[in-house]
Amino acid sequence: MSSTTSAAISLAAITSNLAVVRKTAPRSKVMAVIKADAYGHGLVPVAAHLDDVDGFGVARLNEAQALRSDGIAQPITLLGGFLDEIEMHSAADLKLDVVVHSPHQLALLQGQHFSGGIWVKVNSGMNRLGFPIDSLPKVLDALAFHNVIGIMSHLASADSDREYTRQQIDTFLGGASAFGLPLSLANSAGILDYPDSHLDWVRPGLMLYGVSPFAAQRTQLTPAMMLSAPVIAINNIPAGEKVGYGGTWIAEKASKVAVLATGYADGYPREITAPVLLCGQRRQLAGRIAMDMTCIALHDTDQVAVGDQVVLWGGELPIEEVAELAGTIPYTLMCHVASRVTRQYV
Ligand SMILES: *Cc1c(COP(=O)(O)O)cnc(C)c1O
Repeated sequence: MSSTTSAAISLAAITSNLAVVRKTAPRSKVMAVIKADAYGHGLVPVAAHLDDVDGFGVARLNEAQALRSDGIAQPITLLGGFLDEIEMHSAADLKLDVVVHSPHQLALLQGQHFSGGIWVKVNSGMNRLGFPIDSLPKVLDALAFHNVIGIMSHLASADSDREYTRQQIDTFLGGASAFGLPLSLANSAGILDYPDSHLDWVRPGLMLYGVSPFAAQRTQLTPAMMLSAPVIAINNIPAGEKVGYGGTWIAEKASKVAVLATGYADGYPREITAPVLLCGQRRQLAGRIAMDMTCIALHDTDQVAVGDQVVLWGGELPIEEVAELAGTIPYTLMCHVASRVTRQYV
């Protein structure tokens, strides 16, 4: 028995979700986005498992470093690129491809030999990173002595705004098609909902982990993570007594309350108001989520023992639903699963 919160990660689910990507975008190469510890699923185990993708995308140099020191040899793209000369040389040493999105980076590259591939990033409507799309001829000119491997951009609202997304796709194709370079635009929402955004490379993150970027669940994806915590105590609470910090939960009648070994330090957010699953049955929280503990209200008939596992998300309790009840998105829940949570690969 272990008194830690645990995340069961199904690598088979990730394989099956990759198959969904390939089926949905059959003509595109796949850059699997595994930044942020593979969205909480474990950077190296997920990368080692995804051995037949065409490349990986990470956000930070230290993520790429971790992959290379664990022997991951596939192409890795540093999605945010480098910030200074030291990072530029580190990226080259690690044999990374980099995203170049700013005049600052162009200046660093001037007169330098950079051995890796360069994705030129243009702005098509996110207005965050990227060159103005009509400056592409100049930018490509400035990179004439470098190995430009493609042009990319990023969708801002593919999960929520059809018209804006259509406009972004048109802007990108209009400005980037003429150079004969590979093109990349689609994230998960683009892959699932906008076939004409697929182009030469797709960049799935969320959907690889079996989570839909849309509020409505996509049944073809298989969730890869189940987060659960053991019951560490079961208490009889007399009517009128309070439970937890601030005494925000009051027993209306004599009640049974179970204490779970999970809290916000495990990544179970304090703001959450979602149910949990006890033997497949939904039960409600009793009082505030604390750093290490969370209480749930049991039914009188519940047969619960210390050590029993309670599901916080996964299985019959989709993370999309938990995220909505927590006023957030599945991305943040998965990324915040703490390092003290044990990952079990199944
Ligand atoms: C994170 C990221 C993705 C993946 O997005 P999902 O919505 O998780 O599929 C794709 N491209 C870039 C540039 C990213 O930063």
